[in-house]
Amino acid sequence: VAFFALDTKNLDKFIAAMQKQARVLAPVFSDENGVVLSEPAHGASIRLDFINYKLPLKREFFPQCEVLSRFDINGVKEEPVSDKPVIFFGVRPCDARSLLMLDKVLIDGRHNDPYYQKRRDNAIVISLACAEPGEACFCTSMGGGPAIKEGADIIAFPLNQSLLFESVSKKGEELLKKNAKLFREPSSKEQNERKKLESSSWNPGVKASGAKAGLAAKNDPKYWNNLAESCLSCGACTYLCPTCHCFDLFDEKQGDTGTKLRVHDACMFAGFVREASGHNPRSSKGDRMRQRVMHKFSYAPENYGIDFCVGCGRCVASCPSNIDIRETLAEVSA
Ligand code: SF4
Ligand code: SF4
Repeated sequence: VAFFALDTKNLDKFIAAMQKQARVLAPVFSDENGVVLSEPAHGASIRLDFINYKLPLKREFFPQCEVLSRFDINGVKEEPVSDKPVIFFGVRPCDARSLLMLDKVLIDGRHNDPYYQKRRDNAIVISLACAEPGEACFCTSMGGGPAIKEGADIIAFPLNQSLLFESVSKKGEELLKKNAKLFREPSSKEQNERKKLESSSWNPGVKASGAKAGLAAKNDPKYWNNLAESCLSCGACTYLCPTCHCFDLFDEKQGDTGTKLRVHDACMFAGFVREASGHNPRSSKGDRMRQRVMHKFSYAPENYGIDFCVGCGRCVASCPSNIDIRETLAEVSA
């Protein structure tokens, strides 16, 4: 583990140095969406005053819509994924942690997704510890925390006038050492500030322990139908969830050529498991709500040993019907 300090006023210099080595995405302000993770234009200031991005990190590794291959009369050509390294600066720790869950599904050793894998191999993730939680955040209930390092290569601590960088992986350490001339040794005051941030925990009041056992007992369709009564089946909760990973494949033909597309799908859509005969095994909104919750808090821990929720709160904040997964967790938890 290595520590490097940078005066916040010099952050733009670090970003510019990284831009010479890789494609860099960082928090910048956009009129339309507030602070977004995007390629900073020349001279754009980097923002550190945000809770989290509206869109989850997964979209950079597993895009909402991507071309997998192109075909014509002569055959099929796989679409190449760029070899260029990508540095993500300013990822919130919950989103960095969500990569662990996506890795378990998309590079499980048996069915490796080459598109996702290449993007993961090319990426360096610099997470930014949180100084304060957002209204819908509950990471600490889900095994995360404001300075959790899982999924990150480097973690940056925002201190009073500086940023303190801590290497987490070998890749992260190499990047920091390569740019060592921009940094200085952290003072003991800065180290103390970092430790304070690192040990800060907060209690969002969401009980999530024992959800799996509690869910097994919630087999009553009435419970799920009541919960889903006001659901609009809009899919916002799944599209914005950093761990949801279901997709569909489509062939699109344009004249004599065509493309195979991969597009995100959502278990909250009525047609998600509708069969060609017209039969729908999950025909009610309650069935679909049950599936979403069971997948995250029962099937995922059974198959991968971890809940597929990092407590980012996006589904809570974005649901137009105010359906709140924290309330469901509280109801089913021991
Ligand atoms: S289920 Fe909701 S709170 Fe949990 S990771 Fe997904 S969007 Fe975030
Ligand atoms: S965001 Fe809310 S309304 Fe939309 S599908 Fe999810 S639970 Fe239903």
